[in-house]
Amino acid sequence: MHDNLPAESGWIMQAENIMNRGKMAYHKCAYFVNRAAVDVAWKLRNFATMIVSQYFYCIEVWFAPKAYVDKLRSQYNKQLKMTLRVNRVTSSAICILLAGCKEYDWWQEYYRLKFKYDMLRRPVDGPQKWAQGWKNSITGYARWSSQESHDDILQLASAEIPEDEVIHEAMNVWRTALLSKMWSKTRIDGYVGQVIESMNWWIGVESPKLYEWLSNTELKLVLETLGNGNNFLDGSIICVKCGGSSRSWTHNCIECESISVKVDIERMFENKAKAKIEVSKLKELIDDMRIDVRQKEITGRTVRIMHKDDASVEGQSIKRLYVSKKYSNGLYRCTCMETGILMNIRLQDELFKGNVYLE
Ligand SMILES: [Zn+2]
Repeated sequence: MHDNLPAESGWIMQAENIMNRGKMAYHKCAYFVNRAAVDVAWKLRNFATMIVSQYFYCIEVWFAPKAYVDKLRSQYNKQLKMTLRVNRVTSSAICILLAGCKEYDWWQEYYRLKFKYDMLRRPVDGPQKWAQGWKNSITGYARWSSQESHDDILQLASAEIPEDEVIHEAMNVWRTALLSKMWSKTRIDGYVGQVIESMNWWIGVESPKLYEWLSNTELKLVLETLGNGNNFLDGSIICVKCGGSSRSWTHNCIECESISVKVDIERMFENKAKAKIEVSKLKELIDDMRIDVRQKEITGRTVRIMHKDDASVEGQSIKRLYVSKKYSNGLYRCTCMETGILMNIRLQDELFKGNVYLE
């Protein structure tokens, strides 16, 4: 613990030390947490014991400024994604939930809660006792301690030390609020979000053990698909099979008339056998939707193109165009079938982005 702990400069210094410790630990333990060939369930266990512990040294009493907590959280999330070997744009909330992990903020609150309701209630000397003297001071701990409302849930007598299960129950209540805040910020397909929310994994219901049921590559596929790490569920891109709608779970996996496989997300969460089946269907579907745009001849054809401007209005934003001529700089001369308006569009780029469907 740092001498000038109650001072902000002390907290910043501590935050920087912790950040470096987290980085170093991940680097040194790469063999246990990052190798592609190693079973992901084992890597996640190693991550929880070797890496997570580095971030919460003395977290009970040091309160870094928000900007530093944000940096620590983002490094923690990044390392979790490195362990899962998913694309870095994949939603952290999805990775944490489906890999059976806990949020950075969860750990932080958990250690503080344990400290206040357990350690401080035991007759031991040391840092615990100093911290008691800060109760009426202006330290971060004193502020946190006076604001937290775990007492309402724990309902303890003044010197009672709660069982660990009681602490976990209080944490589940706290996590519900945390997740609803995280959820509102997560860019995720509406249907997928609803299904996951309805499962209540964070209030004590265990999330499905996809990380034990699936192979590393299968898990990666699920996380990247549900967590927007690939463009399979990108609402601003046109469906490559029918060109009639934007890409959503409801369209791609249930309603699209040009697909032959349907994927049931709820079955995927039920048990190992069902998860394997649904994930293999999902893989088939995604493989089928991969577009090869290298040498497609577009001139003389009718295409449908997604208009980004009004992409929020599903279906409304798709225009049919006739492609009459190619210019040397990659531009194509197109005529809008509905309005007759002429326009020049960089079609090859749009094709690559998934915004064009060839009729
Ligand atoms: Zn479709």
